[in-house]
Amino acid sequence: MIVLVGRMREFGTTVFAEMTALAVRTGAINLGQGFPDEDGPPAMLDRAVEAIRGGLNQYPPGPGVSELRQAIADHQKVRYGLAYDPDSEILVTVGATEAITASVLALCEPGSEVIVFEPYYDSYPAAIAMAGAVRRAVPLRVEAGRFAFDPAELRSAVTPKTRAILVNSPHNPTGTVFTPAELAAIAALCREHDLIAITDEVYEHLTFDDIPHVPLATLPGMRERTVTISSAGKTFSVTGWKTGWICAAPELIRAIQTVKQFLTFTAAAPWQLAVAYALRHELDWVGTLRGALQGKRDRLMAGLAAAGFEVLRPSGTYFVQTDIRPLGFADGLDLTRRLPELAGVVAIPTQVFYDEPEMGRHYVRFAFCKKDAVIDEAIARLSRLG
Ligand code: PMP
Ligand code: GLN
Repeated sequence: MIVLVGRMREFGTTVFAEMTALAVRTGAINLGQGFPDEDGPPAMLDRAVEAIRGGLNQYPPGPGVSELRQAIADHQKVRYGLAYDPDSEILVTVGATEAITASVLALCEPGSEVIVFEPYYDSYPAAIAMAGAVRRAVPLRVEAGRFAFDPAELRSAVTPKTRAILVNSPHNPTGTVFTPAELAAIAALCREHDLIAITDEVYEHLTFDDIPHVPLATLPGMRERTVTISSAGKTFSVTGWKTGWICAAPELIRAIQTVKQFLTFTAAAPWQLAVAYALRHELDWVGTLRGALQGKRDRLMAGLAAAGFEVLRPSGTYFVQTDIRPLGFADGLDLTRRLPELAGVVAIPTQVFYDEPEMGRHYVRFAFCKKDAVIDEAIARLSRLG
């Protein structure tokens, strides 16, 4: 008997769960699923313990704890010059994942189209399918050493049914940070066709080589049509806290909250106070993390290149893409399933993030949010592949 509803049948177990289970089963080094192997700022962790001990253990308000909403508003104002009213324009969610899904469910009718860039983060097509909407994928192709889209191709993906465009910069799984010109091209299309932009900015603090993160909402005419999403997981190395948020115009927030309240009603309380503290007091810690990650990026890139991979330099996130063909492999899914046995390492096959897997068949993603010794051991093992 088939029990899963038709619109979800194209989705199996996520590749992250599959590959982490493979690492646990084989004892391989896990450079697959993106989670850091060191904790976030100690004082922030203390705040979470204090919140629990202090009795913040019942339902917080639906939109989120007011201290956190205020801290998010101040963060957006100070960092990007974007003013949001904490009471009507900010919503705390169960990670960025819930923020994205609730936004798509609230804003996209069945049959309406949502543009995504491929390779895409795996929850986007699932959220679009849950809404009964239709995804239109625009490919990022490697050009001059980075994954980029063709503005003409993006333009031709817009139809009268297009409702929204999902934008992820810094981009997982490629590490691309969209340039000002690329952001301007997206914004122009949104204005011209009256589209909503849903932006996934969870890696907003993790950019390298002094490349700044520019929220799409800062571009002319975009604040009122952009749903800006972020999360504490990557910024403060607490992926298990699942604390995210949305900044948007009041009518967008009202619509999304209508859906969100019936998905989870509200997000867990103790982490909210701790994240509020971190947004106010731990951005220096994040700066140190960013510097360390840049060093880890360079370390892993050099090691992978020496091991025979063709390596693409990421400008943000903590992932690096490699082309496996120079090593004599052709299929990343096949290679990553055998990699624990071949080299004692786990990685992520990029092809699973495409509508057309062929486009990404020869790419494999490695995470570098790991201790230097772990990266070095992984490199030593991978160098046996050649
Ligand atoms: N978007 C992207 C691009 C991600 O890499 C991740 C994983 N952190 C998420 C969303 C999900 O974030 P969260 O864990 O806060 O739900
Ligand atoms: N965002 C993480 C990654 O891209 C994993 C998130 C997850 O396991 N769903 O690796």
